[in-house]
Amino acid sequence: MKYIGAHVSIAGGVENAPLNARAIGATAFALFTKNQRQWQAKPLSAQSIKAFTSNCADNGYAPRHILPHDSYLINLGHPEAEPLAKSRKAFIDEFQRCEQLGLVYLNFHPGSHLGKTSERRCLALIAESINLALDRTRGVTAVIENTAGQGSNVGHRFEHLAEIIEEVEDKSRVGVCLDTCHSFTAGYNIATEQGYNDALNQFDRIVGLRYLKGMHLNDSLKGEGSRVDRHASLGKGTLGLAPFGFIMNDPRLDDIPLILETPDESLWSEEIKLLAGMEKKRR
Ligand SMILES: [Zn+2]
Ligand SMILES: [Zn+2]
Repeated sequence: MKYIGAHVSIAGGVENAPLNARAIGATAFALFTKNQRQWQAKPLSAQSIKAFTSNCADNGYAPRHILPHDSYLINLGHPEAEPLAKSRKAFIDEFQRCEQLGLVYLNFHPGSHLGKTSERRCLALIAESINLALDRTRGVTAVIENTAGQGSNVGHRFEHLAEIIEEVEDKSRVGVCLDTCHSFTAGYNIATEQGYNDALNQFDRIVGLRYLKGMHLNDSLKGEGSRVDRHASLGKGTLGLAPFGFIMNDPRLDDIPLILETPDESLWSEEIKLLAGMEKKRR
């Protein structure tokens, strides 16, 4: 079975996320656990944590179908000591918030070398950052998102993801989230059935499908290999609807959160219905 949702708002408190997900007919969801544009956040209140867990339980959201995303300010591969330390501190705080909420994943973009260090060194710093966070928390898996490769971002090649995972000490708590827009603009042509299957087979060979913990379902404003990260609503970009049909009928993607990060949230409930309708009955 497929679990489909969107990255919903936490306005008014994290406990509102499962209610916002329910309102659009989602069976999975993503959220930030704090304001993603600020370094500092108030600790979660006991009341907020309690309301979050009961709202999730009441609406049928299991932790494995919830994919929290960290702040965009964090760069786990920052080439300079001070900003790297700041990023790591914020990342550990994000991990602890997920732990407090009873969540099992934290999804994040790996990082950027900023043209000041090598790709390899940047990947090593990211792995070290993950090890530090895993050391200080329990029960939360680090879910690395593949990127479009915009600017100096690493993580646009499956080899980068494999290299990070290779250096993570606890392999049972590391995984990957594949974003359809990022995959396509990084140069994996998932718009055709052949290209889609090639990409997943490559992912399996280089990284391993056992590490795939979630997907982001976005169409793309920019073309294949453009290395630009601009999401579009489903069917309104360069990917078109075909790849979403491949995904919805791919049993390898059962039981993981499939999350929309499309720009027009007024379309989310329609997009969820569209996706669910693409899933042919297998049983
Ligand atoms: Zn994404
Ligand atoms: Zn993106």
